[in-house]
Amino acid sequence: MQERRDIVRFAPSPNGWLHLGHAYSAIFASETARALGGRFLLRIEDIDIGRCRPEYEQAIYEDLAWLGLEWEHPVRRQSEHFADYEAALKRLRDMGLVYPCFATRKEIADAIEGSGIGHARWPVDPDGAPVYPGLYKDIAPAELNRLMWEGRSYAWRIDMEKALARAEEMNGGPIFFHEDAGGPQGQAGRLPIDPMLFGDVVIARKDVPTSYHLAVTVDDAIQNVTVVTRGQDLFPATYVHRLLQILLGLPEPRYRHHPLVRDETGRRLSKSAKDMGLRELRLAGATPAEVRRLAGI
Ligand code: GLU
Repeated sequence: MQERRDIVRFAPSPNGWLHLGHAYSAIFASETARALGGRFLLRIEDIDIGRCRPEYEQAIYEDLAWLGLEWEHPVRRQSEHFADYEAALKRLRDMGLVYPCFATRKEIADAIEGSGIGHARWPVDPDGAPVYPGLYKDIAPAELNRLMWEGRSYAWRIDMEKALARAEEMNGGPIFFHEDAGGPQGQAGRLPIDPMLFGDVVIARKDVPTSYHLAVTVDDAIQNVTVVTRGQDLFPATYVHRLLQILLGLPEPRYRHHPLVRDETGRRLSKSAKDMGLRELRLAGATPAEVRRLAGI
């Protein structure tokens, strides 16, 4: 029998130029694959059709090749696979675990304002978004019909409480994931998930039939990824991904979250930090070895 090789991926979004943090993450993934004797994939996460641009995608290929990374071809581009995410969404819909949500940002803000709790004390999810206040969750079928006929756009949200109960039932008990490297507080080993922190998170956006959480979970399964490497900022997102894996009957990868690259002031690098752009460093004549040193690898 042929031994199964590990599969590791780097999955950037082409909505800005890559910076030193991406260089760290890409090299971390590629070296994890090498250390495991596994395969290394690149995946382009371009579901955000409003913000992703072809020149950013091109720069990803150029920057990573310049760093000396090699990945398999063809590269999976999420924008070419919406049907896969739609199928997964349909399955969740058939299970009665997602509901249409017509709310605008303003409606959500107003509901929180009028809740008597106020913005300052309203819970926020691990991405910093206010936990959904439940508008449109239990609307009557006639009202739902009316909104649909009016052509109001809607997202799909997961009923988190119901979804977690269902997943635990399917799993035969509480759900865990395997962290090989470490979370933001150094957590490692077999760890419990806590997806309730996200509340009724969006599973498919208004403009596309998916969201980051759904697309990443479906793709890691389709591409047979066995070790998911990424920054510790996405550690809590794993709670949602693990839940979706159980609900959708997908295999469980292991996780290795890495620390984030920070600047001298301790600030996390972002795509707007132009001075740290890989492309700028490359065009200014920096060497890949210098970039590795700057990224702390
Ligand atoms: N596309 C995501 C990002 O650029 C990363 C996805 C992942 O590694 O899970 O932040």
